[in-house]
Amino acid sequence: MSFSFNSSWSVNRTPKLFKVDLDGNMYCHHEIVAVLRMAGPKSVRHGNQFYGCPQWPLSDCKFFMWKQDFDNFSKLIQDAVQVQQVTKS
Ligand SMILES: [Zn+2]
Repeated sequence: MSFSFNSSWSVNRTPKLFKVDLDGNMYCHHEIVAVLRMAGPKSVRHGNQFYGCPQWPLSDCKFFMWKQDFDNFSKLIQDAVQVQQVTKS
């Protein structure tokens, strides 16, 4: 049984490139740790949390990801790590 992890993981739309370290910190396009924010009442997902550029709105690099999407991604990584640990022996 083999398992390969595709690093060009996408969120149902266009593929997104982003960087995550081993501690689970996500980095924006400035290479700084992204911050967690709450979507406002104007958003279709009002109340949902998302990661954005920490320098927004002064120097927004347009980095954006829903926390739910990131959690799904984190689970994929954890599953991949566990599979690797199981098959390493
Ligand atoms: Zn940024």
